[in-house]
Parts: sequence; C-alpha cells; structure tokens
Amino acid sequence: MSDPPVRIARFLERTTAEGPGERTAIWVQGCSIRCPGCFNPHLFSSRGGALTSPDALVARVLAAGTSGVTLLGGEPFDQPAGLAAVASGVREAGLTVMTFSGYDHAVLRQRSSDGDRAVAALLDATDLLVAGPFREDLLDHDRPWAGSTNQEFVHLTDRLRDVTAPDRVEVTVTASGAVAVNGWADPDTLDALLADLPHRRSRYQAL
Ligand code: SF4
Repeated sequence: MSDPPVRIARFLERTTAEGPGERTAIWVQGCSIRCPGCFNPHLFSSRGGALTSPDALVARVLAAGTSGVTLLGGEPFDQPAGLAAVASGVREAGLTVMTFSGYDHAVLRQRSSDGDRAVAALLDATDLLVAGPFREDLLDHDRPWAGSTNQEFVHLTDRLRDVTAPDRVEVTVTASGAVAVNGWADPDTLDALLADLPHRRSRYQAL
C-alpha cells in the first residue's frame, strides 16, 4: 500500500530560520492541539492546503539541495504516516530531519509503544524533535527555535546534537507582492514588523 499524501500549507526551499544550517521547511496543514496564543491559527483546519505525495515531497526537498528538512505546522504528528515516509526518504539521501510537535515527547513515546506504527516511524526518522505545546505564559527568549520554555529539545540521534543559532525572522516577498514571514521572534517584535508590511501577509512560525 502506498504512503498516504501529506496535506501541506507551505513549502519553503531554503531557510536559515527553521533549524540549524540551511534547510528546507514544510509546514503541514491541520493541528488538533490548538494552543492558546498560537501564531499559526490559519493552519488549524485540516481542510485547505495541498495534498502532496511523500515521493513528490522527497523529490522537492532533494532538488532544493539543502542539508536537511524541518517539519512543522500545523501538527506533523497528526499526519505521521505520510511524513514518516518523507523523513525516511530524505534521511536515506543523507539529510537531517528536525520535527516540531505540540505533543510532549512522553505522549508520542506512549503512542508509539501502544502500537501506533506511523508515530514510531516518524520518531525513528527524526534526528531532533522539538516537543510540547506552545505556552504563551512561558515565552522562551533564550533558546533558538523554541516558542516557550516548556518545549523539550529531544535528540533522537547525534546528528544535530551540537548545533545552535540565534533566533531569526525571514521575510519573503513573492513576485505578486504577497509577503510571508517565518522564523521566531517575540510577539512584540513580530507585531511591530508586521505592522510595517503590506496587508497581503502571512506568518508561519515554529512554536
Ligand atoms: S503551536 Fe503548534 S501545536 Fe500548538 S496550536 Fe499552534 S501549530 Fe498546533
């Protein structure tokens, strides 16, 4: 049986704001966790986005020529089977995989040991997991990529163990004038930045 398609919201070929080094980022559409204060409420609905086959996503990531892929959203573990195929496909080519989740690592481990093979496969194909819901009362001003201090960096392999970077924000302007912001900064900084941008804008943050 072929792997199920992944409902994606955005594919960014190259970014230095969503994990260590130059990476490709895939935001998935749909999140059942719905943390208060989430910056990506447009990604809550499991409708919309584009259904894309894992093979096509692997091909796009490899064509981008970056050192790895970052899976974020939305909630990657709400679509674990298709994303496990993407993650294992790019890892076979030597790339690293970083995955964000609003579920605590203990919850994911439990699902895995309860027999959820898709969750187990996505954990197996991830090098660095950033796990836990976003807590707006616990904003993280120190660690890169994390939105709140409760979120756990879980090194599932040694491949991304010794990497760090400052928080960054990237602004992308398309030929049609649409503006997209990604990366992480505290809400006040982001609000000030977005206030200066044109109205056709969207933001895709790792939280
Ligand atoms: S922060 Fe992440 S897990 Fe929480 S609601 Fe937003 S997308 Fe979902």
